[in-house]
Amino acid sequence: MGDSYGLKQLQYDDQTVVVTGAGGGLGKAYATFFASRGANVVVNDLGGSFKGEGGGSAAADKVVDEIKQAGGKAVANYDSVENGDRIIKTAIDNFGRIDVLINNAGILRDISFKNMKDQDWDLIMKVHVVGAYKCARAAWPYFRKQKYGRVISTASAAGLFGSFGQCNYSAAKLSQVGFTETLAKEGLKYNIICNVIAPIAASRMTATVMPPEVLDALKPEWVVPLVAVLVHRSNETETGSIFEVGGGHIAKLRWERAKGMLLRADDSYTPGALLQKWDGVADFSQPSYPTGVANFMELLEEAQKLP
Ligand code: NAD
Repeated sequence: MGDSYGLKQLQYDDQTVVVTGAGGGLGKAYATFFASRGANVVVNDLGGSFKGEGGGSAAADKVVDEIKQAGGKAVANYDSVENGDRIIKTAIDNFGRIDVLINNAGILRDISFKNMKDQDWDLIMKVHVVGAYKCARAAWPYFRKQKYGRVISTASAAGLFGSFGQCNYSAAKLSQVGFTETLAKEGLKYNIICNVIAPIAASRMTATVMPPEVLDALKPEWVVPLVAVLVHRSNETETGSIFEVGGGHIAKLRWERAKGMLLRADDSYTPGALLQKWDGVADFSQPSYPTGVANFMELLEEAQKLP
């Protein structure tokens, strides 16, 4: 990221930023920030409860009013992210372009796996998986045509590591990692930069599960600088990455592969033979950091060469 961009105060003038689920929490923090730095902002929110029930225009309208009162440019959209094409159309109709998409809308349907109903699973998939897909799919042709686009999608520690009572949410959130890593690969030559964040912040989503003193240290505003840097036009290389962010902590995550074992794939390759080598399978003393399928294919080629 070079100096020619004037990076002291990152600006987004003449760009249009779509933030889904921007009626509160993290989405509101993104929307107000980008508007304060010159962007046109689409404030999307269908205004339901954190479990995905009900809806209304008040949440998005309030954020748009705040932005306008502060001298910024914003327009509301009340569609569910499942109708991503309408959200992107709002950007095109009002501002003539779309530059940045922040897939942020989310709900929770926490329940133990034993008691989970199909509806708890399906609703979570609709909002997090289908929603992110629909919004990105609608924005993609514009990004390709203008050879410019920035996408942030939102994972969660629950998705990366699992979390009791959240197997629906965990599955949906980890999907954003694979989704983003593939979009990053497909988008790179068109200057479409895609990253995924696992945030932690005080919001109505975390209000019931964290004590007030912890929540005080987790302002949604403290997730914003990372997102701001990743979607800025100066970032043309940091793509397909996963970041943990919250309360002033920002760190990149990556896959680590143990050196592993290579066993000759013939009759000697039995479960018993594998069990004898198990320590080697899980030995991380000589790790590698794979970033694509090609890395695995190289290992297979090595296995073919075993005496
Ligand atoms: P939040 O409940 O304050 O915000 C989510 C917003 O999304 C709400 O305003 C809601 O109305 C909106 N929304 C829900 N379903 C929608 C739909 N179908 N279409 C459009 N809008 C919809 O919660 P938050 O904490 O700000 O969460 C923002 C994102 O960050 C979510 O994706 C969440 O899963 C993720 N996340 C948050 C935390 C955290 O610590 N707060 C941790 C990990 C991940």
